Amino acid sequence: MRKPVILLGLFLLAAGPLHAAGPSAVASMDRGLWPDPIDTAASFDRASRAELLAFGHALSESEQLGDDSLRDALKLKQLDRAAVDRMRGIYWHRLAANYALAATHCGTGEPFCAGGSDEAAFRKAAAAFTSVRDDRYAPWLQGAETFHRVYLYELLRLASLFPRVSSEVDTYSPRELSGNELADRHFLLTFDDGPTAAGGNTGKLLAVLRREHLNATFFLLGNSLQARLRQTPASELAADYQGMCTGSHGWEHKSHSAWPEWQDSVMRSSALVHDTLPASYVPLFRPPYGQRRSDSGAFFDAQGLRVTLWNIDSQDWSAKVDADQVKQRVLTLMLLWRRGVILFHDIHVKAQTAVPWLVDQTRGTGVQWIDCHSFPAS
Ligand SMILES: [Zn+2]
Repeated sequence: MRKPVILLGLFLLAAGPLHAAGPSAVASMDRGLWPDPIDTAASFDRASRAELLAFGHALSESEQLGDDSLRDALKLKQLDRAAVDRMRGIYWHRLAANYALAATHCGTGEPFCAGGSDEAAFRKAAAAFTSVRDDRYAPWLQGAETFHRVYLYELLRLASLFPRVSSEVDTYSPRELSGNELADRHFLLTFDDGPTAAGGNTGKLLAVLRREHLNATFFLLGNSLQARLRQTPASELAADYQGMCTGSHGWEHKSHSAWPEWQDSVMRSSALVHDTLPASYVPLFRPPYGQRRSDSGAFFDAQGLRVTLWNIDSQDWSAKVDADQVKQRVLTLMLLWRRGVILFHDIHVKAQTAVPWLVDQTRGTGVQWIDCHSFPAS
């Protein structure tokens, strides 16, 4: 995966190599440690409560760390404590709201039901979540403790860098979409960085989605689309993407936060996607690495474009995780966040096996893979 090449200035260079898309460790979880089937709304909620408590516990533990320890844990040269605290507040709020949704099936003897009914009670339960009554869940808890700590650090690292280095961790305004605005159990599949050459991974993934009767939003790079049009006529490519949604990922895969020609990149790439694939075009823009200027809102509004980030990052581009780890990470994050925009890359092979597995694993649980044309709802 290409790393963002950006001129960050001496101040930011002092903070070390900064590529918001690449944490030093990538969290993954062995779902085989979870002892129950997840095949009903109630069993989804049980697993969801467990992940919420485990993430809440990691969040609580992170609050016990002093600034220096947290800075080292996040592999940063300097820590923006206020930015991290602000994001922690947002996470507590989301976790407690999700826990309330996941607790609707709580009854006598049902596990992971000690979370309380408001945010303060959830915080307390999460802080105390160090053991499980039923031994069957003990191996899961051990795996979950590591997963959620590593995953939380991925997020808090981005939080500390934001907004000096923008990323998907937060939005600048409600006009920017992240997936957190979706309804409970609703998920949108998204695929970045295509299209590949004819016969490549993009075509293979499109075939997988068709077999699964799914659609998804693809964020295409202008220069990759232009290259593909030298091989494949526009009408043929439009037929390949039929039923899907296609938005723009910029002309080049380069940070749009510190690139003088970023506006030109957005306009040129959106126009090419629109003109080549008019039936599937959607007026959405996904900034490479989630990086965009803090003052870009007026420009995107004027262009009629919505910035579309994500809240579930598969990390499928990373050599640190294989296809198996990618799918198990995504399922764990679906249980945790309960809604969202999932980021994959059609130029890589991992989504081709991860997506059918996720569909299979969530069947019967009330999870809905939303029609890309219905996004955003407003
Ligand atoms: Zn990308």
